[in-house]
Amino acid sequence: MTRPLPQEVQDEAAKHFDVTVRENTAPMNSDELRAGLRDYDGVIPTLGDLYTPQVFDDVPDPRCRILANFGVGYNHIDVTAATAAGLVVTNTPGAVTEATADTAMTLILMSCRRAGEGERLVRAGEWEGWHPTQLLGLHLGGRTVGIVGMGRIGQAIARRCHSGFGMKVAYHSRSPKTLDFPAERKESLSDLARAVDVMVVAVPGGDETHHLVDAKVLAAMQPHAHLVNIARGNVVDEAALIAALEQRRIGGAGLDVYEFEPKVPQALKALENVVLLPHIGTAALEVRTEMGLMSVENLRAFFAGEAVPNPV
Ligand code: NAP
Repeated sequence: MTRPLPQEVQDEAAKHFDVTVRENTAPMNSDELRAGLRDYDGVIPTLGDLYTPQVFDDVPDPRCRILANFGVGYNHIDVTAATAAGLVVTNTPGAVTEATADTAMTLILMSCRRAGEGERLVRAGEWEGWHPTQLLGLHLGGRTVGIVGMGRIGQAIARRCHSGFGMKVAYHSRSPKTLDFPAERKESLSDLARAVDVMVVAVPGGDETHHLVDAKVLAAMQPHAHLVNIARGNVVDEAALIAALEQRRIGGAGLDVYEFEPKVPQALKALENVVLLPHIGTAALEVRTEMGLMSVENLRAFFAGEAVPNPV
Protein backbone atom coordinates (compact mmCIF):
# COMPACT_ATOMS: atom_id res chain seq x y z
CA MET A 1 0.00 0.00 0.00
CA THR A 2 1.64 3.19 -1.16
CA ARG A 3 -0.26 5.26 1.45
CA PRO A 4 -1.90 4.44 4.77
CA LEU A 5 -5.47 3.32 3.91
CA PRO A 6 -8.37 3.00 6.41
CA GLN A 7 -7.72 0.34 9.10
CA GLU A 8 -10.53 -1.91 7.81
CA VAL A 9 -8.78 -2.03 4.43
CA GLN A 10 -5.41 -2.81 5.99
CA ASP A 11 -7.02 -5.58 8.08
CA GLU A 12 -8.74 -7.10 5.04
CA ALA A 13 -5.50 -7.00 3.04
CA ALA A 14 -3.62 -8.66 5.91
CA LYS A 15 -6.04 -11.63 5.76
CA HIS A 16 -4.78 -12.44 2.27
CA PHE A 17 -1.29 -11.00 1.96
CA ASP A 18 1.94 -10.12 3.66
CA VAL A 19 1.34 -6.35 3.62
CA THR A 20 3.72 -3.42 3.72
CA VAL A 21 2.08 -0.04 4.33
CA ARG A 22 4.17 2.92 3.25
CA GLU A 23 3.66 5.39 6.10
CA ASN A 24 3.96 8.51 3.96
CA THR A 25 1.04 10.50 2.56
CA ALA A 26 3.02 12.00 -0.36
CA PRO A 27 3.29 10.29 -3.78
CA MET A 28 6.11 7.78 -4.23
CA ASN A 29 9.43 9.11 -5.49
CA SER A 30 11.14 7.57 -8.49
CA ASP A 31 13.20 5.07 -6.41
CA GLU A 32 10.11 3.91 -4.53
CA LEU A 33 8.13 3.45 -7.75
CA ARG A 34 10.86 1.19 -9.12
CA ALA A 35 11.36 -0.67 -5.82
CA GLY A 36 7.62 -1.39 -5.74
CA LEU A 37 7.79 -3.10 -9.13
CA ARG A 38 10.98 -4.96 -8.21
CA ASP A 39 10.19 -6.16 -4.67
CA TYR A 40 6.42 -6.72 -4.38
CA ASP A 41 3.95 -9.11 -6.06
CA GLY A 42 1.22 -6.46 -6.16
CA VAL A 43 0.99 -2.75 -5.42
CA ILE A 44 -1.97 -0.56 -4.41
CA PRO A 45 -0.91 2.79 -5.86
CA THR A 46 -2.99 5.94 -5.99
CA LEU A 47 -3.17 9.51 -7.28
CA GLY A 48 0.23 11.06 -7.84
CA ASP A 49 2.16 7.77 -8.08
CA LEU A 50 3.48 8.51 -11.54
CA TYR A 51 4.04 5.28 -13.49
CA THR A 52 5.60 6.59 -16.69
CA PRO A 53 6.87 4.21 -19.42
CA GLN A 54 10.39 4.92 -18.13
CA VAL A 55 9.53 3.41 -14.72
CA PHE A 56 8.55 0.12 -16.39
CA ASP A 57 11.58 0.25 -18.72
CA ASP A 58 13.88 0.60 -15.69
CA VAL A 59 12.56 -2.63 -14.11
CA PRO A 60 12.81 -5.10 -17.01
CA ASP A 61 11.71 -8.24 -15.16
CA PRO A 62 9.28 -6.97 -12.50
CA ARG A 63 8.16 -9.17 -9.65
CA CYS A 64 4.99 -7.04 -9.51
CA ARG A 65 2.15 -8.38 -11.65
CA ILE A 66 -0.72 -6.10 -10.71
CA LEU A 67 -1.28 -2.42 -9.92
CA ALA A 68 -4.62 -2.37 -8.05
CA ASN A 69 -5.17 1.37 -8.17
CA PHE A 70 -7.01 3.03 -5.28
CA GLY A 71 -9.33 5.40 -7.16
CA VAL A 72 -11.33 5.40 -10.38
CA GLY A 73 -8.99 7.86 -12.14
CA TYR A 74 -5.78 6.17 -13.33
CA ASN A 75 -4.26 8.85 -15.54
CA HIS A 76 -1.09 8.69 -13.38
CA ILE A 77 -0.44 5.17 -14.74
CA ASP A 78 0.65 4.60 -18.33
CA VAL A 79 -1.59 1.58 -18.86
CA THR A 80 -0.10 0.74 -22.28
CA ALA A 81 3.39 0.55 -20.78
CA ALA A 82 2.12 -1.39 -17.76
CA THR A 83 0.40 -3.94 -20.01
CA ALA A 84 3.48 -4.24 -22.21
CA ALA A 85 5.47 -4.98 -19.05
CA GLY A 86 3.03 -7.80 -18.26
CA LEU A 87 1.12 -6.05 -15.47
CA VAL A 88 -2.64 -5.95 -14.94
CA VAL A 89 -4.11 -2.59 -13.87
CA THR A 90 -7.40 -2.29 -11.96
CA ASN A 91 -9.35 0.64 -10.47
CA THR A 92 -12.33 1.33 -8.16
CA PRO A 93 -15.29 2.54 -10.27
CA GLY A 94 -18.69 3.01 -8.65
CA ALA A 95 -17.41 3.37 -5.07
CA VAL A 96 -16.54 7.01 -5.74
CA THR A 97 -19.57 8.07 -7.78
CA GLU A 98 -22.11 9.44 -5.29
CA ALA A 99 -19.56 11.11 -3.00
CA THR A 100 -17.88 12.87 -5.90
CA ALA A 101 -21.26 14.02 -7.24
CA ASP A 102 -22.00 15.44 -3.77
CA THR A 103 -18.72 17.37 -3.90
CA ALA A 104 -19.73 18.74 -7.30
CA MET A 105 -23.03 19.92 -5.80
CA THR A 106 -21.10 21.54 -2.94
CA LEU A 107 -19.01 23.47 -5.46
CA ILE A 108 -22.00 24.37 -7.64
CA LEU A 109 -23.88 25.77 -4.66
CA MET A 110 -20.86 27.48 -3.11
CA SER A 111 -19.87 29.16 -6.35
CA CYS A 112 -23.36 30.13 -7.54
CA ARG A 113 -24.53 31.32 -4.12
CA ARG A 114 -21.21 32.98 -3.23
CA ALA A 115 -20.82 30.92 -0.06
CA GLY A 116 -17.01 31.21 0.06
CA GLU A 117 -17.20 34.98 -0.18
CA GLY A 118 -19.88 35.07 2.52
CA GLU A 119 -17.87 32.86 4.84
CA ARG A 120 -14.80 35.04 4.41
CA LEU A 121 -16.89 38.13 5.17
CA VAL A 122 -18.18 36.68 8.45
CA ARG A 123 -14.77 35.38 9.54
CA ALA A 124 -13.17 38.75 8.79
CA GLY A 125 -15.68 40.41 11.14
CA GLU A 126 -16.83 42.60 8.26
CA TRP A 127 -20.46 41.48 8.00
CA GLU A 128 -22.67 44.43 8.87
CA GLY A 129 -25.97 42.56 8.82
CA TRP A 130 -28.61 41.34 6.38
CA HIS A 131 -29.83 43.59 3.61
CA PRO A 132 -31.89 42.88 0.51
CA THR A 133 -29.20 43.29 -2.09
CA GLN A 134 -26.22 41.75 -0.33
CA LEU A 135 -24.19 38.91 -1.90
CA LEU A 136 -26.75 38.19 -4.59
CA GLY A 137 -25.89 34.99 -6.43
CA LEU A 138 -27.29 32.71 -9.09
CA HIS A 139 -30.44 30.78 -8.13
CA LEU A 140 -30.26 27.25 -9.54
CA GLY A 141 -33.96 26.41 -10.01
CA GLY A 142 -34.93 26.49 -13.70
CA ARG A 143 -31.30 26.99 -14.83
CA THR A 144 -29.41 24.60 -17.09
CA VAL A 145 -26.48 22.47 -16.00
CA GLY A 146 -24.03 21.26 -18.66
CA ILE A 147 -22.20 18.02 -17.95
CA VAL A 148 -18.87 17.50 -19.69
CA GLY A 149 -18.48 13.70 -19.73
CA MET A 150 -21.80 11.98 -18.99
CA GLY A 151 -20.33 8.91 -17.28
CA ARG A 152 -21.03 7.51 -13.83
CA ILE A 153 -20.20 10.70 -11.92
CA GLY A 154 -21.61 13.01 -14.62
CA GLN A 155 -24.94 11.18 -14.46
CA ALA A 156 -25.02 11.28 -10.65
CA ILE A 157 -24.48 15.06 -10.80
CA ALA A 158 -27.13 15.50 -13.51
CA ARG A 159 -29.63 13.41 -11.53
CA ARG A 160 -29.11 15.59 -8.46
CA CYS A 161 -29.48 18.79 -10.51
CA HIS A 162 -32.62 17.53 -12.26
CA SER A 163 -34.43 15.84 -9.36
CA GLY A 164 -33.15 17.90 -6.45
CA PHE A 165 -32.85 21.39 -7.90
CA GLY A 166 -35.32 21.51 -10.79
CA MET A 167 -32.57 22.20 -13.32
CA LYS A 168 -32.50 21.35 -17.01
CA VAL A 169 -29.67 19.10 -18.15
CA ALA A 170 -27.46 19.31 -21.24
CA TYR A 171 -24.27 17.33 -21.85
CA HIS A 172 -21.35 16.60 -24.10
CA SER A 173 -19.80 13.13 -24.39
CA ARG A 174 -18.19 11.42 -27.36
CA SER A 175 -21.12 9.00 -27.56
CA PRO A 176 -24.86 9.53 -26.85
CA LYS A 177 -26.04 8.08 -23.55
CA THR A 178 -29.27 6.31 -22.59
CA LEU A 179 -30.40 8.21 -19.51
CA ASP A 180 -33.24 7.92 -17.00
CA PHE A 181 -33.78 11.72 -16.93
CA PRO A 182 -34.31 14.27 -19.71
CA ALA A 183 -31.07 15.66 -21.15
CA GLU A 184 -30.05 17.33 -24.38
CA ARG A 185 -26.78 16.20 -25.99
CA LYS A 186 -24.66 18.94 -27.58
CA GLU A 187 -22.47 18.00 -30.52
CA SER A 188 -19.56 20.21 -29.46
CA LEU A 189 -18.19 21.40 -26.16
CA SER A 190 -18.45 25.02 -27.28
CA ASP A 191 -22.16 24.50 -28.06
CA LEU A 192 -22.60 23.16 -24.55
CA ALA A 193 -20.63 26.06 -23.03
CA ARG A 194 -22.84 28.60 -24.85
CA ALA A 195 -26.08 26.97 -23.68
CA VAL A 196 -25.60 26.45 -19.95
CA ASP A 197 -25.62 28.39 -16.68
CA VAL A 198 -23.38 25.93 -14.84
CA MET A 199 -20.84 23.69 -16.59
CA VAL A 200 -19.40 20.71 -14.68
CA VAL A 201 -16.31 18.82 -15.84
CA ALA A 202 -16.53 15.05 -15.21
CA VAL A 203 -14.31 13.43 -17.87
CA PRO A 204 -11.29 11.24 -17.05
CA GLY A 205 -7.85 12.90 -17.09
CA GLY A 206 -5.14 11.96 -19.60
CA ASP A 207 -3.67 13.07 -22.91
CA GLU A 208 -7.01 13.02 -24.71
CA THR A 209 -8.73 15.42 -22.32
CA HIS A 210 -5.73 17.68 -21.57
CA HIS A 211 -6.99 21.30 -21.77
CA LEU A 212 -10.35 20.13 -23.17
CA VAL A 213 -11.79 23.23 -21.49
CA ASP A 214 -9.52 25.84 -23.06
CA ALA A 215 -9.71 29.59 -23.69
CA LYS A 216 -12.10 29.02 -26.62
CA VAL A 217 -14.57 27.01 -24.54
CA LEU A 218 -14.35 29.49 -21.67
CA ALA A 219 -15.00 32.33 -24.14
CA ALA A 220 -18.19 30.59 -25.27
CA MET A 221 -19.60 30.57 -21.72
CA GLN A 222 -22.14 33.18 -20.73
CA PRO A 223 -20.87 36.00 -18.45
CA HIS A 224 -23.04 34.82 -15.54
CA ALA A 225 -22.18 31.11 -15.96
CA HIS A 226 -20.10 29.08 -13.50
CA LEU A 227 -17.51 26.36 -14.19
CA VAL A 228 -17.02 23.46 -11.78
CA ASN A 229 -14.19 20.91 -12.05
CA ILE A 230 -14.22 17.71 -10.01
CA ALA A 231 -12.39 15.64 -12.67
CA ARG A 232 -8.66 16.29 -13.06
CA GLY A 233 -6.91 19.65 -12.96
CA ASN A 234 -5.33 19.58 -16.39
CA VAL A 235 -8.65 19.03 -18.18
CA VAL A 236 -9.06 22.80 -17.70
CA ASP A 237 -6.45 25.26 -18.97
CA GLU A 238 -5.83 26.86 -15.58
CA ALA A 239 -4.14 29.99 -16.95
CA ALA A 240 -7.07 30.60 -19.31
CA LEU A 241 -9.50 30.07 -16.42
CA ILE A 242 -7.63 32.58 -14.24
CA ALA A 243 -7.80 35.14 -17.08
CA ALA A 244 -11.55 34.57 -17.54
CA LEU A 245 -12.18 34.94 -13.79
CA GLU A 246 -9.94 38.01 -13.44
CA GLN A 247 -11.66 39.72 -16.36
CA ARG A 248 -15.07 38.65 -15.05
CA ARG A 249 -15.86 36.98 -18.38
CA ILE A 250 -17.59 34.16 -16.46
CA GLY A 251 -19.61 34.31 -13.24
CA GLY A 252 -17.34 32.14 -11.13
CA ALA A 253 -15.73 28.75 -10.67
CA GLY A 254 -15.56 25.92 -8.16
CA LEU A 255 -12.49 23.68 -8.19
CA ASP A 256 -11.67 20.44 -6.40
CA VAL A 257 -8.63 19.73 -8.60
CA TYR A 258 -5.73 21.77 -10.02
CA GLU A 259 -3.49 21.59 -13.03
CA PHE A 260 -0.26 21.34 -11.01
CA GLU A 261 -1.70 19.84 -7.84
CA PRO A 262 -1.04 20.45 -4.95
CA LYS A 263 0.22 23.82 -6.22
CA VAL A 264 -2.65 26.32 -6.32
CA PRO A 265 -1.66 29.53 -8.12
CA GLN A 266 -1.60 32.70 -6.01
CA ALA A 267 -3.71 34.33 -8.73
CA LEU A 268 -6.55 31.89 -7.96
CA LYS A 269 -6.25 32.36 -4.20
CA ALA A 270 -6.48 36.12 -4.68
CA LEU A 271 -9.83 35.92 -6.49
CA GLU A 272 -13.20 36.24 -4.72
CA ASN A 273 -15.14 34.57 -7.56
CA VAL A 274 -13.63 31.11 -7.20
CA VAL A 275 -14.17 28.35 -4.61
CA LEU A 276 -11.10 26.23 -3.88
CA LEU A 277 -11.33 22.77 -2.31
CA PRO A 278 -8.35 20.44 -1.63
CA HIS A 279 -9.35 17.44 -3.80
CA ILE A 280 -11.94 16.09 -1.34
CA GLY A 281 -14.21 14.45 -3.96
CA THR A 282 -14.29 11.07 -2.18
CA ALA A 283 -13.11 12.15 1.27
CA ALA A 284 -15.45 10.23 3.59
CA LEU A 285 -14.31 7.23 5.64
CA GLU A 286 -16.94 4.83 4.32
CA VAL A 287 -16.14 5.81 0.72
CA ARG A 288 -12.38 5.46 1.15
CA THR A 289 -12.98 2.13 2.90
CA GLU A 290 -15.14 0.84 0.04
CA MET A 291 -12.52 1.99 -2.48
CA GLY A 292 -9.77 0.21 -0.52
CA LEU A 293 -11.77 -2.98 -0.20
CA MET A 294 -12.29 -2.95 -3.98
CA SER A 295 -8.54 -2.67 -4.52
CA VAL A 296 -7.92 -5.57 -2.13
CA GLU A 297 -10.62 -7.66 -3.85
CA ASN A 298 -8.95 -7.04 -7.22
CA LEU A 299 -5.67 -8.28 -5.75
CA ARG A 300 -7.29 -11.27 -4.08
CA ALA A 301 -9.09 -12.31 -7.28
CA PHE A 302 -5.95 -11.89 -9.35
CA PHE A 303 -3.78 -14.07 -7.11
CA ALA A 304 -6.59 -16.65 -6.79
CA GLY A 305 -6.49 -17.01 -10.57
CA GLU A 306 -9.98 -15.49 -11.00
CA ALA A 307 -10.96 -12.71 -13.38
CA VAL A 308 -10.26 -9.33 -11.73
CA PRO A 309 -13.54 -7.44 -11.10
CA ASN A 310 -12.30 -4.02 -12.27
CA PRO A 311 -9.71 -4.18 -15.07
CA VAL A 312 -8.99 -0.90 -16.84
P1 NAP B 1 -16.64 7.31 -16.44
O1 NAP B 1 -17.85 6.59 -15.96
O2 NAP B 1 -15.67 6.59 -17.31
O3 NAP B 1 -17.16 8.64 -17.17
C1 NAP B 1 -16.37 9.47 -17.94
C2 NAP B 1 -17.20 9.98 -19.10
O4 NAP B 1 -16.43 10.92 -19.82
C3 NAP B 1 -17.62 8.88 -20.07
O5 NAP B 1 -19.02 8.81 -20.09
C4 NAP B 1 -17.06 9.32 -21.42
O6 NAP B 1 -18.11 9.15 -22.37
C5 NAP B 1 -16.73 10.78 -21.20
N1 NAP B 1 -15.56 11.22 -21.98
C6 NAP B 1 -14.36 10.63 -22.04
N2 NAP B 1 -13.54 11.33 -22.84
C7 NAP B 1 -14.26 12.37 -23.30
C8 NAP B 1 -13.97 13.45 -24.16
N3 NAP B 1 -12.77 13.56 -24.75
N4 NAP B 1 -14.94 14.36 -24.41
C9 NAP B 1 -16.15 14.24 -23.84
N5 NAP B 1 -16.49 13.24 -23.01
C10 NAP B 1 -15.54 12.32 -22.74
O7 NAP B 1 -15.79 7.85 -15.21
P2 NAP B 1 -16.34 8.34 -13.78
O8 NAP B 1 -16.36 7.20 -12.84
O9 NAP B 1 -17.56 9.16 -14.00
O10 NAP B 1 -15.11 9.28 -13.34
C11 NAP B 1 -14.73 10.39 -14.11
C12 NAP B 1 -13.44 10.98 -13.59
O11 NAP B 1 -13.68 11.71 -12.40
C13 NAP B 1 -12.37 9.98 -13.18
O12 NAP B 1 -11.64 9.49 -14.29
C14 NAP B 1 -11.51 10.76 -12.21
O13 NAP B 1 -10.41 11.35 -12.87
C15 NAP B 1 -12.45 11.86 -11.71
N6 NAP B 1 -12.71 11.73 -10.27
C16 NAP B 1 -12.36 12.75 -9.43
C17 NAP B 1 -12.60 12.62 -8.08
C18 NAP B 1 -12.22 13.70 -7.09
O14 NAP B 1 -11.83 13.37 -5.99
N7 NAP B 1 -12.34 14.97 -7.45
C19 NAP B 1 -13.18 11.47 -7.56
C20 NAP B 1 -13.54 10.45 -8.46
C21 NAP B 1 -13.28 10.59 -9.80
P3 NAP B 1 -17.76 8.95 -23.93
O15 NAP B 1 -16.81 7.79 -23.96
O16 NAP B 1 -19.06 8.70 -24.59
O17 NAP B 1 -17.13 10.22 -24.34
